Amino acid sequence: METRELTCINCPLGCRISVTMEDGNIISVTGNTCKRGYLYACNEVRMPVRTVTTTIKVTGGEVDRVSCKTKEPVPKDKIFEVMEAINKASCKAPVAIGDVLIEDCAGTGVAIVATKAAGNV
Ligand code: SF4
Repeated sequence: METRELTCINCPLGCRISVTMEDGNIISVTGNTCKRGYLYACNEVRMPVRTVTTTIKVTGGEVDRVSCKTKEPVPKDKIFEVMEAINKASCKAPVAIGDVLIEDCAGTGVAIVATKAAGNV
């Protein structure tokens, strides 16, 4: 039997959640105030994922970089590779919010999308 202590990151309450597991199976989840916390805890012990938010280089634009994020959460252990791929990439202005800047980032199958616009010079 193993117990994992987590802090839910889905809202500012930050509930402390305990997940008890045996042979890889979840036996109990306690401490969550709502169902979102329950689902977060189950996913966190099985396959933790995160949405990555950062910036990407822009060429020919009025700004050098534009903010972006992963369209969906990516496995936590892929975050370093995702950041490396974004840091090596660049996009051309103009950029509109929601534009796909990288189709399949670091083999995750998840796109990188712009979260801010960048016009031409
Ligand atoms: S369990 Fe629910 S109430 Fe508690 S931090 Fe998570 S989302 Fe917020």
